[in-house]
Amino acid sequence: MKNKSNCIFCKIIAGEIPCKKIMENKYAIAFLDINPISDGHTLVVPKKHYENYSSCNDNELKGVASLARQVAKLIKNSSLKPNGFNYLSNEGTIAGQEVMHYHFHVIPKYTKDDGFILTYKNKINKKVDEVLKILTSNKK
Ligand code: AMP
Repeated sequence: MKNKSNCIFCKIIAGEIPCKKIMENKYAIAFLDINPISDGHTLVVPKKHYENYSSCNDNELKGVASLARQVAKLIKNSSLKPNGFNYLSNEGTIAGQEVMHYHFHVIPKYTKDDGFILTYKNKINKKVDEVLKILTSNKK
């Protein structure tokens, strides 16, 4: 997968625009989010361009996951001392994805009411057994 000329994260990876890099491995780079939700909010990004999680290649996914864990350890052992983390990847505009280059958010959590706050609005159209049937009906 080639890097895309109009992609901001590809430009960061190519060194064309600056970022606040924390660490990297063969497949991925980790840098601080420019508009952090909490102190230490970091993005882990594959060096090759993939639009989202589900289209990303396995090697890059492993590289991202491994680097994200290292980032979390680094933050945990630093003087930032968060009490937990939210790990998140948005896929598609409707799900909140703004940058169309797959990235994994590592968001330190300090207090219950700050940082990333998860809310649900249940809207169920099908029974769980119906969904199971849909998803497994082509299974060999
Ligand atoms: P998402 O909404 O999941 O696509 O998240 C995109 C994230 O990228 C947001 O949290 C932005 O603040 C962040 N972001 C956008 N441009 C930059 C940049 N140049 N450097 C660092 N973070 C960025």
